[in-house]
Amino acid sequence: MTRELLVAGGGIGGLAAALAARHAGWEARLFEQAEAFSEVGAGVQLGPNATRILREWDLLQGEFARQLVAPARLRVRDGADGGELGTLALGDAMERRYGAPYLTVHRADLHAALLAAVQEDGTRLHPGCRVEALEQKEAGVAVRTTRARGVEGEALVAADGVWSALRAQVVDDGAPQWTGHLAYRALARQADLPQRLRSDEVTVWLAPRMHLVTYPVRGGDWLNAVCVVQGTQPGDPRDWDQAATQAQLDAALGPVCSAARERIASMPSWRFWVLHDRPPVKGPEAMARGRVALLGDAAHPMRPYFAQGAGMAIEDARELQRVLAVADDRYVDVPTALKRYALNRWERVARVQSLSRRNGTIFHATGPLRMARNAAMRTLGERLLDQRWLYGR
Ligand SMILES: Cc1cc2nc3c(=O)[nH]c(=O)nc-3n(C[C@H](O)[C@H](O)[C@H](O)COP(=O)(O)OP(=O)(O)OC[C@H]3O[C@@H](n4cnc5c(N)ncnc54)[C@H](O)[C@@H]3O)c2cc1C
Repeated sequence: MTRELLVAGGGIGGLAAALAARHAGWEARLFEQAEAFSEVGAGVQLGPNATRILREWDLLQGEFARQLVAPARLRVRDGADGGELGTLALGDAMERRYGAPYLTVHRADLHAALLAAVQEDGTRLHPGCRVEALEQKEAGVAVRTTRARGVEGEALVAADGVWSALRAQVVDDGAPQWTGHLAYRALARQADLPQRLRSDEVTVWLAPRMHLVTYPVRGGDWLNAVCVVQGTQPGDPRDWDQAATQAQLDAALGPVCSAARERIASMPSWRFWVLHDRPPVKGPEAMARGRVALLGDAAHPMRPYFAQGAGMAIEDARELQRVLAVADDRYVDVPTALKRYALNRWERVARVQSLSRRNGTIFHATGPLRMARNAAMRTLGERLLDQRWLYGR
């Protein structure tokens, strides 16, 4: 019997979920509210925990492979005095240690690769179609969209992002929380930068109440920069892509060394978004109910200080694939399968959410905490930066 999964949301999480369903032998039907499938222009880092899955799905090849970068190392600096705090070998070292690479990529390239894969796999795509309501029935889920009523499937995955409206179908806990942090992001063509500012590494600058991350994307031709500062900025909190000026960012920077400032000043233009998150997931009941499961930021929005939001969405999708593959309605029905998905995911995503919050405090530390952080990083270096529990199998 052919089974059909409905997916609400066509971001990285929703596309990964549709692809996972197809790999599990299900049909998939995906609804995206935007008229076109697209991603904003910024980079993402993908640890071996995520790239292992992309490789298993045969995505790390062809044109997409040419866009990927495997940076040689992660280098952490104190952004106030410029001193080096620690390094972690990435490149071949990650592949050797974890059997999968640590990659940096432009989000639009990752999104396009997933979109091409679901198109090839026969997922029915409905752009310009917002899922507005859903009803759980005895043997399925019926959704009302802006274009149609009574669309039915056997299960629904809500991958509708941090501002998920469908989340309330599983856990009714209000709106996400404002973090008090703003993420400014920029892209520069490496050829346009002076030689000393070009980079093939992931570099993180930790400074009081801010941090800056740079890494190469698009086959190394472009340098991606994200600068997170504490403070407010007028604008739409739901808009991921608001215009920002260099002056706004300069005003938000605290005591930052000249080398980090030069990197910030070398970026041609900046966009910003206001960061929101939720407290860590409290239990499996907060990730699935009946025939509806939450996935990605809809389930566990997190601060980006562990660079794992998209990675966790991809892992969610892989777990979904595992449970859908065994949901046969003879021994395992769909609600039981989704319950297993939630049981197998919630503790791990909660840990990543809570460490992401903790990293924010450590990254932006001042006074004695900053001194303790720097001493620990200088002494332990790679042992602190490597995340065996996260990157390993
Ligand atoms: C500054 C910053 C840096 C980051 N860096 C990294 C990183 O290095 N590594 C990493 O792994 N992660 C990173 N992340 C996190 C990562 O970007 C997100 O976790 C990930 O993109 C979430 O994907 P998603 O598909 O769950 O949600 P989204 O990308 O928000 O997608 C949700 C989609 O659902 C659609 N939608 C919403 N409501 C409906 C509806 N009712 N019906 C139909 N469609 C709907 C939306 O239009 C959207 O397309 C970063 C985040 C930030 C802010």
